[in-house]
Amino acid sequence: MTPLWQNLKQLVALDQKQKTILSQIAQIEQEAAEDNLMIPELQATINEIKQAVIDAKKNVDRQELNANNLKAQETSKKKALDTIKNQKQYEALEKELSSILRQISELDDTIVKAWHTLDLARKKEETELSGLSKKIEALQTDAEEKEKSINSLKQEYQTLEQQKEEFSSKIPPEWLSKYERMKDKVSDPIVPAINDSCSSCYYSVPSQDMTRLKRNAILPCRSCYRLLYHDQEEEKDLKEASF
Ligand SMILES: [Zn+2]
Repeated sequence: MTPLWQNLKQLVALDQKQKTILSQIAQIEQEAAEDNLMIPELQATINEIKQAVIDAKKNVDRQELNANNLKAQETSKKKALDTIKNQKQYEALEKELSSILRQISELDDTIVKAWHTLDLARKKEETELSGLSKKIEALQTDAEEKEKSINSLKQEYQTLEQQKEEFSSKIPPEWLSKYERMKDKVSDPIVPAINDSCSSCYYSVPSQDMTRLKRNAILPCRSCYRLLYHDQEEEKDLKEASF
C-alpha cells in the first residue's frame, strides 16, 4: 500500500501544477486585453487617414467650383465691355473685371495648395493603410491563438483536478483537512524530516516521533506545523548531494 505521505506529496505536486496553469492563464488574459485595446486605436487611425483624403478631395472640388464661377463672371464682364456706351460705365466695369482677375489669381494658389494636400493624403493612404490593416489582422489571429491556449490550459487544469480527486480519495479526511489548512499558509505544506529535524524550520524531531515517521506515519512539525514525513531514499540522496 502506498504510504499516506506519498499520496499527499502527489497532491502537492498537482496543486503546484494547477497554480502554474492559473498564472499562465492570467498572463495570457492580460496580454489579450492589451492587444484588444490596440485594435480600435488602429481602426481609428485608418478612419482618420481615409477621412483626410475625402476632406482634401472635397476642398479641391469646392475651390475648383469657385474658380469656374469666377471665370464665368470674367467672360460675362468681358462681353459687357463690348456694349459699353460711355467712359464712366467703362471704368466701373474695368474695375470689376480687375477685381475678378485678382480673385482668380489668388484662387489659383489656393487650388495648387489644395491639390498638394490631396496628394499627400492619398500617398499616406497608399503607404500606411495596408500595414495598419495587416496589424489588425495579426492581432485578431493572435487573439484566436490566445483563446485556444487558454482553453487548452483550462482543460489541463480540469485533468489535474480529476487526478487530485483520485489522490484525495486515498487520503483520510482528517489529514486532507490538515493539508488544506497548511496549503493556504505555506507553499510547501509537506516536507521531509532530514537528520532528525524538520527540513523547513530545522526544529529537532523528538526520537519517539522519528520512530513513527520511519514507520511511514505523518506528523505535524511541533514548531512550524508543516506535515512531516520520512523517506529513507530522499534522505540518503540529500546527504550524498551535500557532500
Ligand atoms: Zn518545522
